[in-house]
Amino acid sequence: MEACPNCGATGLRSFYDVARVPVHSVLLMPTRAKALDYPRGDVSLAFCDACGFVTNTRFDPADNDYSTEYEETQGFSPTFNAFADALARRMVEQYGVRKQRVLEIGCGKAEFLTRMVELGDNHGVGIDPAIVPERVPAHLRGRLELVQELWSGASRDYDADFICCRHTLEHIAPTGDFLRTLRESIGDRTETLVFFELPETLRVLEEAAFWDVYYEHCSYFTPGSLARVFRANGFELLELSLDFDDQYILLVARPAKGVTQPSLPLEADMQRTRAAVELYATESPRRIERWRTEIRERVARGERVVPWGAGSKAVAFLTTLGLTDELDVLVDVNPYKRGRFMPGSGHEVIGPDDLAAHRPDCVVVMNPIYVDEIRGDLAARGLTPEILAV
Ligand SMILES: [Zn+2]
Repeated sequence: MEACPNCGATGLRSFYDVARVPVHSVLLMPTRAKALDYPRGDVSLAFCDACGFVTNTRFDPADNDYSTEYEETQGFSPTFNAFADALARRMVEQYGVRKQRVLEIGCGKAEFLTRMVELGDNHGVGIDPAIVPERVPAHLRGRLELVQELWSGASRDYDADFICCRHTLEHIAPTGDFLRTLRESIGDRTETLVFFELPETLRVLEEAAFWDVYYEHCSYFTPGSLARVFRANGFELLELSLDFDDQYILLVARPAKGVTQPSLPLEADMQRTRAAVELYATESPRRIERWRTEIRERVARGERVVPWGAGSKAVAFLTTLGLTDELDVLVDVNPYKRGRFMPGSGHEVIGPDDLAAHRPDCVVVMNPIYVDEIRGDLAARGLTPEILAV
């Protein structure tokens, strides 16, 4: 019997399967042929009744390829930038992160770390296998260091006062080992704060949001299961909250002096999580069928349907629904995605300025938080298609 990679308990229970999805969903391809040919893996979500964790038991870390081609940045969206900027400001102010050493594990393009360095006059080190070390802006040379590697406990000792890790833990399968290694790497510097941010899974389960389940995300946390793995590995919690329209969990912790007990309101979620897993198991097949029918019927009526947002959610949405000829293109505001192709389904990505030529009747927004921004983008180009959001 397989052991839970978060808490070590046995008795994981499978509740959702999708076969042959692309192993990466933000690595866009230069040609349609390569996109259609993209390596695939299986998703089989299993639930741990001991800690509330959800894991893809079919995940194989050997499929990972976080090269510099990895185009994960959401930094072209004003909505996302405003969120990240306000968050960096709050962290600096609320936790007094000034003139300190800030380490970010999995820093992506280092936009957040850059703001932490600027706002708090901090020194920053960003580690990411997809980082381009030369990309440090001129005004931050000497204050910001980018290291192209996959962080491990064996990495150089960075002696950090504040460690952030945003949208990374959900890509790591042995989460319990990762937290233990992190705690060990901090050693006796018990004033060190750690800040984690990652997708919230209760909402995904309760809304049967199948587009939020994809191969790259092998680990799915609720606030409670995240809190439990931190406490089990020697941390005490200072904050456990939701942000970004309740789509993300934010956790701030520091090394604990001994064993700590749950104390924050969001930690007590085991009953709700059990119910949410049951709900997802029954509701997601219906939801998938409803969306498939919705899009096929519109296309049959002669409508042009264009999804907006060529990220992971779109890859999961298209490949789970098995959509191919029903759609022509997808739109994305990130100019680096333009002219590239969606892994798995092979659809081409265009920019908002190319959209007029496609005269869409219906735009499917892949994240409802962007509806207003997208309606504005469409109106600015004289377009008024019907807008649906997942
Ligand atoms: Zn567990």
